[in-house]
Amino acid sequence: MDISGLTIKSFHNALQRKEFSAREATDFYFKRISEDDSVRPFISTLEIQARERADAVDKMLADGDETGPLAGVPMAIKDNILIENTPVTAGSQILKNYFAGYNATVIEKLKKENCVFLGKTNLDEFAMGSSTENSSFHITKNPHDLKRVPGGSSGGSAAAVAGGFSLAALGSDTGGSIRQPASFCGVVGLKPTYGAVSRFGLIALASSLDQIGTLSKTVEDSAIVFDAIKGSDEHDATSDKNEYGATAFFDDDSAKKLTIGVPKEYFSGGMEKETEAEINNALHVFKKNGFTVKKISLPHTKHALSCYYIIMPAEASANLARFDGVRYERNQEAESLPEIYKKTRGSGFGNEPKRRILLGTFVLSSGYYDAFYAKAQKARQLIADDFKRAFAPADYGVDVIFTPTSPTRAFKIGEKTEDPVSMYLSDIFTVPVNLVGLPGLSIPVKKYVVGSGELPVGFQLIGKRFHEKDILNLGMWYEREVGE
Ligand code: GLN
Repeated sequence: MDISGLTIKSFHNALQRKEFSAREATDFYFKRISEDDSVRPFISTLEIQARERADAVDKMLADGDETGPLAGVPMAIKDNILIENTPVTAGSQILKNYFAGYNATVIEKLKKENCVFLGKTNLDEFAMGSSTENSSFHITKNPHDLKRVPGGSSGGSAAAVAGGFSLAALGSDTGGSIRQPASFCGVVGLKPTYGAVSRFGLIALASSLDQIGTLSKTVEDSAIVFDAIKGSDEHDATSDKNEYGATAFFDDDSAKKLTIGVPKEYFSGGMEKETEAEINNALHVFKKNGFTVKKISLPHTKHALSCYYIIMPAEASANLARFDGVRYERNQEAESLPEIYKKTRGSGFGNEPKRRILLGTFVLSSGYYDAFYAKAQKARQLIADDFKRAFAPADYGVDVIFTPTSPTRAFKIGEKTEDPVSMYLSDIFTVPVNLVGLPGLSIPVKKYVVGSGELPVGFQLIGKRFHEKDILNLGMWYEREVGE
């Protein structure tokens, strides 16, 4: 049986039917990871832990204990999420010998579900990037074309799922880092509402934008993992206190009632021709099935990218101040405190974190704060107001917004590394969602088979705050319509 072709749901069913054991499935994945090094999604693997967990699941099954949908499911975890007593690098040399002292809340939750953690996936250093080329460890390749990037920063997680190295994965998304790699690799990526999932134990990039979310083969799988990781957490004051219901079930009637808004600003040129054609195909699937599709306007979209590239570095520069060689590892011998800082940060951070720390401290510095940071916060409010109008019943009154996920398909390795601004442009359709804290879901336009030579394209569904149910339900409708 080809275990790597399964979804969470079919894996669960096969495990219950004893078609294989959790241990056999885990061994299968580790064999695949060690034998095929063409993609290299992982920074480290967790073989001992994973096998112990799989054995425990097999014992539960043998004892007739009740097990949930995620029991024994092999998952890959982005290497900026803490798993107790295991290495966590955030893709940076500054943390290369660091071990996590505790579990992230999402890990605690998935442990309770008896998930098997295969390993930690590659990412752009501190999640800064759109291609995973900024990792200080190695380059991860796109399983659909090994000359191309998997996207980023959760490129390792997306490539792991697309390449059959893991059944599902966790990523983090500050400006598109789950959705853009999902689009490039032909998998599903969910960035939940800000506050829906605890950020405790996620190495912070920009705290007002970061969210942990899922990468998976199907929308339904993302919903299953999302249901397991969501919920309030006393360790994260920004996590939302309201419990909200399960999302992992399909409801055709309510899907059909959703009104879809299509913002004209996301279709105003600059998109790669092949991407645009695929996006229009996806939109047509909704139109021809009788969905109400409305043209809407989000007029401040044009300010989103510049706004993001002020707020994100500002917050990142503060968050990264903790890596000073005192609280975390010191990489160099030094005589004085300033020398410890200089040497550790000078050699420990790569170019992108340095660029963003400089940018961030500049926009926060006295004399420039009002001109840049305060202005960006005002623009953020205008962008939020646009979305409010789109969803308000008295205004456009749509339930879900449909957009492309990225303006292009996966680009070639090395194509954009010398030009940070062109790299930043690949986030143009994803950053507004983070600035406003809404949930966003990237779905492949169709099933893209690795080896077919086709490069995937994903579209994005944006929902109201804490209405993941809507975008997941509509996504499940779509994948049923076009075939999972
Ligand atoms: N690519 C974006 C950036 O470089 C988004 C990163 C992210 O979402 N972590 O900031």
